[in-house]
Amino acid sequence: MSSANSFSDHKRRVMSPEWLFWAPPLLVAAMIAALYVYGPISQPLSYHDFADQRMIGGVPHGADVWSNLGFALVGLWGLIRLFSQRHHPQLRQGWPGYALFLLALIGTAIGSALYHWAPDNIRLIWDRLPIALACAGLLAAVRCETLCSGEGWAAAAALGIVAAASVAWWYITGVCGQDDLRPYLLLQCLPLVLIPLWQRAHRALVADQKAFLWAIGFYFLAKVAELGDSMLFDSLHVVSGHTLKHLFATLAAAVIVWRLGERVKKRSGGSFPLNKEQAFRII
Ligand SMILES: [Zn+2]
Repeated sequence: MSSANSFSDHKRRVMSPEWLFWAPPLLVAAMIAALYVYGPISQPLSYHDFADQRMIGGVPHGADVWSNLGFALVGLWGLIRLFSQRHHPQLRQGWPGYALFLLALIGTAIGSALYHWAPDNIRLIWDRLPIALACAGLLAAVRCETLCSGEGWAAAAALGIVAAASVAWWYITGVCGQDDLRPYLLLQCLPLVLIPLWQRAHRALVADQKAFLWAIGFYFLAKVAELGDSMLFDSLHVVSGHTLKHLFATLAAAVIVWRLGERVKKRSGGSFPLNKEQAFRII
């Protein structure tokens, strides 16, 4: 296995521009330096005041609570669809990270629903922790499957600890006087920056690259909607920006799970792995 992998990696290195291999560590270093220089980023005091306060089905802030259901459905869909295929050649390298991602989606549904029911900083820990773990899972998955490292569980565990530490840092600095969201925000940004670069550098399947770009697009819409929580609620009346954030983020996760399902689909008249020309062709 190692010789096949090293051949593939060598071939990819020869065929990809060299800067693609240097860009990820340089970008991470630049982001860390910029955040260090910028200084602590605190959560706005009004963070817990969401625009849509309506009770729905006996649940306070109902739309923001119920709209988490999608995360649980996507997480369960992924686990049911993919668990039996975890040893599939197109999935096994990244499976530990993807498993963390899928479990974190279910955790996000629970944690975010709990938080939005009665928003405060303690409950926000249980909202942010699974979101951070989902980011860690995606990073671990794509890192391992693009580099063929075969250390998926170690990568998922290490990044999971980093994710938990980023949320702990925010909460503990808050207790000490000035909360600092920088590590948590950095962790959320890393998949958006690193995954497309890793995929491109290591010539991931074009369909994988496209799916992840769609997911980034939906995640971007989620962030825009989050920033326009009150403005969107005042304009649309039926749905707030934060509820839309949940729905767009669910779509982003669904695209990734859908694409993983497509990867492990049995193809008529063919078999996995794909031939090298299919597997390594580039956009
Ligand atoms: Zn939320």
